[in-house]
Amino acid sequence: MSEPNTNKWWINRPWREIQTNLREIDMLDINAEQFVADLQQFKANVVMINAAGIIASYPTKLPYHFQSPYLTGDSLKDIIAACHKADIKVIARTDFSKVRRPVYEMHPEWAYLSPKGHIVDYNGDVHVCLNGDYQQQYAPEIIKEAITELDFDGIFFNMGGYQVKDYSYNYYGICHCDSCKTKFAAMFDGSPLPKEENPNDPLFKQYMVFKQRTLRDYAEKMYKVILGVRPDICIANNFELKEGFIRQESNTAFDRPLPHWQYSASDNTKWAVSSYPSMVSSNTTVDFPDYHHRHVAISPFQQKLRLAQNLANGGGLDYYLIGRLDNHEDKSGYEGIKEIFHYHAEQGEHYLNITSHSTIALLNGPSGNQAEFRGWFRFLTENHYLFDTLMVQNALNLPWDKYRAIIIPDYQPLSAEMTVALDAYAAAGGTVISVCRSGFQDEAYQPRKEVPLQCLGLDQVLTVREDNRSAYFKI
Ligand SMILES: [Zn+2]
Repeated sequence: MSEPNTNKWWINRPWREIQTNLREIDMLDINAEQFVADLQQFKANVVMINAAGIIASYPTKLPYHFQSPYLTGDSLKDIIAACHKADIKVIARTDFSKVRRPVYEMHPEWAYLSPKGHIVDYNGDVHVCLNGDYQQQYAPEIIKEAITELDFDGIFFNMGGYQVKDYSYNYYGICHCDSCKTKFAAMFDGSPLPKEENPNDPLFKQYMVFKQRTLRDYAEKMYKVILGVRPDICIANNFELKEGFIRQESNTAFDRPLPHWQYSASDNTKWAVSSYPSMVSSNTTVDFPDYHHRHVAISPFQQKLRLAQNLANGGGLDYYLIGRLDNHEDKSGYEGIKEIFHYHAEQGEHYLNITSHSTIALLNGPSGNQAEFRGWFRFLTENHYLFDTLMVQNALNLPWDKYRAIIIPDYQPLSAEMTVALDAYAAAGGTVISVCRSGFQDEAYQPRKEVPLQCLGLDQVLTVREDNRSAYFKI
């Protein structure tokens, strides 16, 4: 391995990523030169490839890291070297959400447990819990091995956090493993875990806080582990570190209600770019209509639209397919994707170091009313207003003085710090547009007894009338 380079290579570098999400059998006859030549056809300069987690795609020494039996093609080491020779950065794709059945049998206590006490075994992959020792103690060991044995430039974690569904979208509920029980009881005075995800249940409100805190701790722990051994690595989706890249997907899914959200790529890119300006936005266009139809591509026009929306909002390019580029069944998306990737290869410099001049901010976050948010998103976009999406998690760390208005689209849980900041912003001349129940809860999801915002000029506690369809104000 070469000497660690502390330069952050992803800064000031046009970003064109392709993720080849390999099946295990794709490693049987993978050819490093062919792999690079295919990426070059697209002028991709970043690639994400399977490395570690459920399956070790390189020879591992760790007993709880399931060794792929299919490593007869070129090695990951040779693939990475070939990519580097072509100035293509390589991101390690990892997935610590499951372990193969034999690993589970060595450590049943690592598994996710449903409220009824059942594990989830999906065709031999057993779901594991974020709070168990596998994710807490052993995943960091696997990562250290992968990024010291191999010269990766970045790392991505697939399906991180609390997973309650399997790949067939079957729902299993809140994890009730011993690690969760103990940790939750320690955080909330001996409380039992909530049985259901009911937003009105006080226990579940505590559980949402529990998830936030444990995920925050985990993110912090992981970036320390990674940067401790490789300070030059670009980490995905670490909002505690606030460096690296933000990886999202614009995708479709058969069970999702219509209509499709056609601003998906704009939406994903906009919040990433405006709320985390020091991170690269890498929103991917997912090639297939749904995971179970992964060998068939969606409309090439849809893929181009997503990529164009990424660029228009200041993000990078990203394309994701299952398998390799050379053996992919349905290549109908390639031409359109290449067109946008090639355009960016020529013009990419102009997309660097751009900053938003938006004068309106639209608030969003994990507990938003998405229908209301999307309504405002469309209203602003289709009336040609320039706007940013401010995520509540980082909004207070960003300057608001460029905004003439901040819109809160029925966003209920607002912290006291946020309501004070919004009042101060209004007092200084800004316009706050507060919709419906905004601020009706505090950040722990508890009902707020007082009027949430002084700037509304109201002197009594607000309630929502649900018995009328509409009302008009004549001003
Ligand atoms: Zn658990």
